[in-house]
Amino acid sequence: MGKRSIQYFTLSDIEPRIWFMLTGCDFRCRGCFRPARDGGGTLLSPEEMLKRAEQACLKHYGKLPTKAMITGGEPTLDKEFLLTLVKGLKEKGFEEIILMSNGYEIGREGNANYAAELKEAGLTEVHIDIKAFSDEIHIWYTGESNKPVLNAVRMLNDTGMELLIQTVYMPGIVDVEEIEQIAIFLSNVNSNIKLRINPFAPTFAFERVTERPTMEDMGRAYKIAAEYLPNAIISRSCYREYPTPPPQETWITVYPDLRSKRRTIKDQEEDRIAWLSLSKSKTREEILQELERDDLEYRQELEEAIRKFSPRNPKQR
Ligand code: SF4
Repeated sequence: MGKRSIQYFTLSDIEPRIWFMLTGCDFRCRGCFRPARDGGGTLLSPEEMLKRAEQACLKHYGKLPTKAMITGGEPTLDKEFLLTLVKGLKEKGFEEIILMSNGYEIGREGNANYAAELKEAGLTEVHIDIKAFSDEIHIWYTGESNKPVLNAVRMLNDTGMELLIQTVYMPGIVDVEEIEQIAIFLSNVNSNIKLRINPFAPTFAFERVTERPTMEDMGRAYKIAAEYLPNAIISRSCYREYPTPPPQETWITVYPDLRSKRRTIKDQEEDRIAWLSLSKSKTREEILQELERDDLEYRQELEEAIRKFSPRNPKQR
């Protein structure tokens, strides 16, 4: 059985829930903002990883949670490792086991049973990114074709697992026309699939390939997607940028050696600055000069749009 590296576990203070942040990725997305992409971390077998996850949960919650998210980087690179991890979580009583993936491995040639095996192992939900519908754009943006990704969506849908597709609005690259194509594709697979549209966030992107979309752009993308998919939504992830007043509800990072740290958004920003500095061979000061700090107005606009467009608030639409 192979081993994989884990950067850290994350425990939520909001509800008992654990994330596994595996390192390494088969894509090189130009706009990636995940330091886990580039490897590093601590190499562990699935059994060792489960044991340390259990110890972290018992220490913090006094019991095991029922919800686990497996993310990265890209968690699917080693099929046997992932299947063993999922099986182990199920055996420990986890009821919701969620995989976040770029889909490439699951849908590539020669892996015809990957999706079904994940379901059999105990996986309950999958979040797949469709970076672009045009294969040309996809190859330019990630370095790989999107054909396996689209295959993965079909195969995962066939298993009956809960499926959420995420796509990033990137003005001039993945804009309304691309998002409409993605929505048409998904509606042909299953019109009940959930599609979440996220705005491109240039601040910590590896390459600032474009600007943030405007709220009008996001609104247009939502409207066109909702014509095909009743479960289309605009991202709510920006709420993570709004810590609640003290005592702050937040996340606890538990490193593989079981040291733990209550990290803030600021700490996450520092990690990304350190990653950009290392991977681009630039000083921290040079990276800081490149970063814009003008996000507040945009975040307020985004909150307004979420209130307006979210299907959960139909009266406000
Ligand atoms: S798939 Fe995710 S982790 Fe991998 S390069 Fe793309 S954005 Fe980064």
